[in-house]
Amino acid sequence: MDPKTVLKKYYGYDSFRPLQEEIITHILSGGDCLVLMPTGGGKSVCFQIPAIMMEGTALVISPLISLMKDQVDILRGNGIEAASLNSSLNASEAREIVEECRRGHIKLLYISPERLNSTSAWIKENIRVSMVVVDEAHCISMWGHDFRPEYTQLGNLHDLFPGVPVAAFTATADKVTREDIMTHLDIRGRKLFLASFDRPNLSLSVVSGLNEKARKDRIVSIARRHPEESGIIYCTTRKSTEEVALDLRIRGISCAHYHAGLSSEERKNIQEDFKMGRIQIVCATVAFGMGIDKADVRFVIHYNMPLSIESYYQEIGRGGRDGMPCETVLFYNLQDLVTLKRFVEESGQKEVAADKLRRMQDFAESTVCRRRILLNYFGETTSRNCGNCDVCRNPPHRFDGTELVQKMLSAVMRTGQRVSSTGAIDILLGEKTPNIVKWGFDQIKTFGVGSDIPREDWQAYLMQMVHLGYVEIDVLNYRHLLVTPLGKEVLYGRQSAELSVPKRKESRSRKHKEQPSILSVEGEDKILLSALKDLRNRIAQEEKVPAYIILSDKSILSIIERKPSTEEEFGECFGIGEAKRDRYGERFVRLVNLYSDRLKLEPEYDDGEWTFLGERVEGTYTFEKLLKTVKKKLYMGNDRSWTPQIDKELLSLHDQGISNVEIAAKMGRKTKQVRSRLQRLKRWHRELRQSCSPDQIPDMKNLLDYFS
Ligand SMILES: [Zn+2]
Repeated sequence: MDPKTVLKKYYGYDSFRPLQEEIITHILSGGDCLVLMPTGGGKSVCFQIPAIMMEGTALVISPLISLMKDQVDILRGNGIEAASLNSSLNASEAREIVEECRRGHIKLLYISPERLNSTSAWIKENIRVSMVVVDEAHCISMWGHDFRPEYTQLGNLHDLFPGVPVAAFTATADKVTREDIMTHLDIRGRKLFLASFDRPNLSLSVVSGLNEKARKDRIVSIARRHPEESGIIYCTTRKSTEEVALDLRIRGISCAHYHAGLSSEERKNIQEDFKMGRIQIVCATVAFGMGIDKADVRFVIHYNMPLSIESYYQEIGRGGRDGMPCETVLFYNLQDLVTLKRFVEESGQKEVAADKLRRMQDFAESTVCRRRILLNYFGETTSRNCGNCDVCRNPPHRFDGTELVQKMLSAVMRTGQRVSSTGAIDILLGEKTPNIVKWGFDQIKTFGVGSDIPREDWQAYLMQMVHLGYVEIDVLNYRHLLVTPLGKEVLYGRQSAELSVPKRKESRSRKHKEQPSILSVEGEDKILLSALKDLRNRIAQEEKVPAYIILSDKSILSIIERKPSTEEEFGECFGIGEAKRDRYGERFVRLVNLYSDRLKLEPEYDDGEWTFLGERVEGTYTFEKLLKTVKKKLYMGNDRSWTPQIDKELLSLHDQGISNVEIAAKMGRKTKQVRSRLQRLKRWHRELRQSCSPDQIPDMKNLLDYFS
């Protein structure tokens, strides 16, 4: 078999992604290599295919047990024999795996570096090692941000396993780290594969100048646009992870917070619940992510700006690993910037840190295609605008902002440059806050001259002024604003200043509504989609693995598009290899056929009863009519005050185990109302299921989507 046939047979893909085939060929020819590939760039295939094709067992050294488990689940799901050896196994489990390896049954053995160090002699004697893969190879370098001492002992791989190819993989490595990896692992021929860092399926947006309340509102609207899809929100502090998560929960969105202050048990549970889709959103500090290999994260939000582009890119890289669209949003405002600058001032490597922050800031304030800035940062240049960032979608409009700059700088000068950004804006807006009055700033000439412009816009303008170099923030001295020499040129009318119109909230949110959740289809396919997702979830529960391991979202869409009527055709759908075809084909094809039949068939009348696909239905209802009737019954008359959206919130609060009394308080209704509504929803759902085949009726929340 050649690599391409293996790809089709086990993974169900028709073609390789860039560089994959070259890397596979290189490893198969016995060569060492270092591969730099972004998260989600398709790295696993690069070593798994050679491992499948070569005789013996490939050792995959990986630092995290949770990652190993995920990889092994995915491999087994694709019909490839794989196992992992790590400290979470008891002695008899470990012995069993070791025995399987000895018999040559295991193609890929995931192993922690510690375990390899302690058992290498045994492995050498008993296992025929085909290749050694070092995953997360940057952990070997002191320069990497994730140094792990146990990795330094990997230097003797060639002595341990002579003649066996060594392939190292990493998603983040600057030049120094790269050289370090090559040297430590003794990569023969120093062969480097550098994949493009572009992840075109991640959309990029930056939203500046929003206060906390507005940011939370924006998050809620993003989460509602992605019903039942997973998302991550990154915050700088533990406290804000807790606050944001609480806020979302109160508004009926399933969300947990995650930070290093939680017990390892709690963290493990949250990771697991997130992976299995039991929690929609995790609000986390940077502590969250390394152990997460969830393929179907559909949005990543930065509540605060990260300290460097590397961190930012790695964090958004956790979205859309299945190659399907993922929305990323970075919130950015002056307060954050000031905090970060102070952080930099106090850090050990002040200059390096300041430079990294400046590059991050440039990205956030950019008025050119953001993806170009990112790629440029990672050493790739392109002359093409991406079309999938906010700047490309919504180019900035510029205007002569000289007067605005003059108003701001004049206010600052008149305070003797003893005012912070908030204070300066208070002055322009004419707000008599205690501080303003205390310092007599309400007496200066510029007090109130900018009251025609909303605070949010002033914040955005001030940020531009900082970026354009008209004003500086004195981070070590009460964050006071200082007018620069260039600023004085504008202030005294010797130069003009160009500003860009702040992006308005309304126009942006309208734009966003046009790109709803990716798993959305039109018209009649809606029911099929719900039914397919339902079946996928059911199988995932049976097999105790996350839903995306059963079938990816892209596979589901491919099934809807092709409507396979045989298992053979099912195997032709995207991402379905032989193992998945044989294991799940029958159930999915039956469901699709049931659905397709429904489109062709009318209910039958016989002996005073209407039947539909062998199930009794009331009256002359077809499936859609049945749903319409239920919709009417649920939202007419006394139930007029309920909407599908409200019902969804109600159900999700209920699912979280919140009591009816609390739900009633949150939703501003009577407890009695809440109780009877829940009963009503459940009753109608039961009746629908009884009237039709249960496979056709999605769960209650999906059903509500159909109503709205
Ligand atoms: Zn762009």
